[in-house]
Amino acid sequence: MCYAIPGRVESVEGRHVAVSYYGQIKRAVNELYSLSPGDYVYAQGGFVVQKVSPAEAEIILSTWKELFFELQELDSASIRPSLMNIAPDSKLAEILKAAEDVKTLSEDDLTFLLSLEKRSEIDALCGAANRLRHSISQSSCCVHGIIEISNNCRNSCRYCGINNSNARLSRYRMSEDEILSAAREAVAKFGFKSLVLQSGEDCARPIDELVGIVRRLQKDNPVFLIISFGEYVGWSGLEALYDAGARGLLTRFETSNPEIFSKLHPDSTLEERLAFIRRAGEIGYLITSGGLVGLPGQNKRDLARDVLLCRELGSQMYSFGPFIPHPDTALAGRRTASEIEMLKVTAACRLAAPPEAVVPVTSAFETISRDARKKAMQSGANSLMLNLTPLKYRAMYSIYPSRAHESESLDAQIADATDLLKSLGRVPMDIGIRTQRAEISTSASTTP
Ligand code: SAM
Repeated sequence: MCYAIPGRVESVEGRHVAVSYYGQIKRAVNELYSLSPGDYVYAQGGFVVQKVSPAEAEIILSTWKELFFELQELDSASIRPSLMNIAPDSKLAEILKAAEDVKTLSEDDLTFLLSLEKRSEIDALCGAANRLRHSISQSSCCVHGIIEISNNCRNSCRYCGINNSNARLSRYRMSEDEILSAAREAVAKFGFKSLVLQSGEDCARPIDELVGIVRRLQKDNPVFLIISFGEYVGWSGLEALYDAGARGLLTRFETSNPEIFSKLHPDSTLEERLAFIRRAGEIGYLITSGGLVGLPGQNKRDLARDVLLCRELGSQMYSFGPFIPHPDTALAGRRTASEIEMLKVTAACRLAAPPEAVVPVTSAFETISRDARKKAMQSGANSLMLNLTPLKYRAMYSIYPSRAHESESLDAQIADATDLLKSLGRVPMDIGIRTQRAEISTSASTTP
């Protein structure tokens, strides 16, 4: 099983193509190739990343065909009937029904959902999110790989183990060659179609150097590239990195509560962070944002606002992780968010997000719960992240202690993820930016 299957171009309308995966239509943006109906492509994050020859695509698709339909059946069989075990006239039933009809949830609705305590009600919430996930993205699951290129950081975020005042941490900065070779291996050997490059705010690495790395990486590898270097790149850096080929930005706002934000971030303001994310959206980046769950002083309404802020920012990936206290930070000894809290947030994200948005299982969630992937994927999540940072550096990217996959080889991570996807009936293919066939003209035309 590889991390993407090719799809057949059904129709082309300017930059937009409709791509069919055994008849399931996804919509993607094409900036790279001259495409006509009948061509085969790989798409990721709603972008065409590679054109493949029909001969190559047909071999892959024929080996996948049987498994594809088997997995779909398995996934469909896991979907529980609507509103099982809750009173049909309850407030919960009303909210879940509205969400499943893709109605926008209010702050009060989300606060109510995030405050649920009874097991049967939480099960109903997670079941509804899973049903909605299935109805909008079928069995698609996107798999990203992350390379953590430096643990140097100019900031002193109170919760983060790589903050610049942690003198106990050994620092590293991957060289350009190391980054490019990790990316090449991920793409050429392991078939990744989507990569995240992440670091602390490593201002000792000039923006020009980052731009050069992104340009070379994109030139040599057909991949959807997400950057996560922090605000130090500035607005002009965002533009230059986009021009070099980066297409996604991962920057969490961490919390939508300005008071909590300012207590935790002595070096930046919530306003600046949001302006940075909004600017990236204007440039054309696909936005991944989100926050930390269980921060000191945070309540359920704050979390509801976090989910809604993601929506307001036009986030295409709702990335929420539990706050895990790091012993070498000011928040050492505080409480870690629980599995149940994380499942409720995962489900709330799915119910509140627009259909095309992806809900990932974050590595921090995997760190606090062995079953995180399985349970989150059954509560609305449809994306996984594998850690591609070279093993000699991985433990040094110590944002919180004992991170999941800290010492696990890539082969082992791939085997695990593959088994999980197979057991849940999920297929590693692009989720697309919209799934409605009606929105795509079926008339054939080609890009200039
Ligand atoms: N500089 C990058 C950016 O643009 O945001 C990202 C680097 S930062 C280390 C990556 C993420 O780690 C943060 O967005 C934060 O949510 C998460 N993180 C840091 N400390 C954490 C902790 N103690 N528990 C859980 N997550 C944490």
